[in-house]
Amino acid sequence: MKKLLWAIFLLFGLSAAAQDIYIQSGNLIDTKTGKILGNHTVIVSGKKIKSVEKGFVQPAKASDSLIDLREMFVLPGLTDMHVHLESETNPSKYLDRFTNNEADDAFNSVGFAETTLMAGFTTVRDLGGSGVNIALRNAINKGKVKGPRIFTSGKSLATTGGHADPSNGMNRQLTGDPGPKEGVVNSVEDAKKAVRQRYKNGTDLIKITATGGVLSVAKSSSNPQFTVEEIKAIVDIANDYGFHVAAHAHGDEGMQRAIRGGVTTIEHGTLMSEATMELMKEKGTYLVPTITAGKEVSEKAEVENFYPELVVPKAREIGPQLQNTFSKAYKKGVKIAFGTDAGVFVHGKNAKEFGYMVEAGMPAMEAIQSATIVPAQILKMENELGQVATGFLADIIAVKEDPTKNIKTLEEVEFVMKEGKVFKQK
Ligand SMILES: [Zn+2]
Repeated sequence: MKKLLWAIFLLFGLSAAAQDIYIQSGNLIDTKTGKILGNHTVIVSGKKIKSVEKGFVQPAKASDSLIDLREMFVLPGLTDMHVHLESETNPSKYLDRFTNNEADDAFNSVGFAETTLMAGFTTVRDLGGSGVNIALRNAINKGKVKGPRIFTSGKSLATTGGHADPSNGMNRQLTGDPGPKEGVVNSVEDAKKAVRQRYKNGTDLIKITATGGVLSVAKSSSNPQFTVEEIKAIVDIANDYGFHVAAHAHGDEGMQRAIRGGVTTIEHGTLMSEATMELMKEKGTYLVPTITAGKEVSEKAEVENFYPELVVPKAREIGPQLQNTFSKAYKKGVKIAFGTDAGVFVHGKNAKEFGYMVEAGMPAMEAIQSATIVPAQILKMENELGQVATGFLADIIAVKEDPTKNIKTLEEVEFVMKEGKVFKQK
């Protein structure tokens, strides 16, 4: 009898406490079908979407609340598949490596994370930093910091002198000889150890720098920097831990090796040949275009002393080519996942990428899908992220105008909810 009473108490106690949120949405963007639906009500319970009803439904209980987005265009929270939340471009960035402690990066990252969330990006893939991004992810998950849901690679993997060798450009006293623990690998054995170390550190995926890069203090922006065997070893071991592998690549040869080695995404893809596009289609590899970074970096290359001398010619050469490559790859049928490289330019401007994608020939709805349902597939969260649908996590944003008519409306997000919690409401 006592048990029964207790059960009844629990039942009533819980139902009294359960406050559902009714979001009346005038125009609901269905990312699965690519259609804009008319009046609907999204009912949010806890962290999830309990149901999506036709028409404007009124709250059922006095404890429920109502959010009026009847004049808005409502869509799932966006995902940026390439950001760096630990830092942001500035002329002293190269000096920061010698003056900042991890704690400085950590405090800075708190602001960058919040800015990103307020811009409507409820999920990001953080592709490389010192490892502060792991602690940042955990703090956000615990609700201590406002920010997007983070999938992080921790420290990127490079070869000696490669794009993500942390000691590039330092004097010989400081360079030392970083190894797998620091993310520098020079053999199949090193590769295995480096991936396992990332697992131990608590990362969600692996990032490699398959070719030279623009902003590292090193000469080549595009030469291949791993052997296929090393990349295969990284991908094999990564798979043991349920990780996918993202490969930074500007040059064609390094890109081809990464694709043959089995990586899931190619970041930037600047000098991609038609043969490589075909190979990506065959292997199902995604391109993450980062057009915004290309444009911003080539602009900053013209500002005196913004970048070190070695970086300027690389920024001028690589930056302007990204949009054109994206356009060709998209038209050829390469799978595209939205990503910007925010951090290389100021955080919170991620949605500018949509405009560049549309300008390059991608229909607006497909651009939106590349930032919703496509990332959900790559992150193996296709039943939880990227749609406003029953059972999905309640990551919901709203904008004033129809983004298929004016894509720039995504640069001014009016409403942000993440996991059922409202972070922004104008
Ligand atoms: Zn990057």
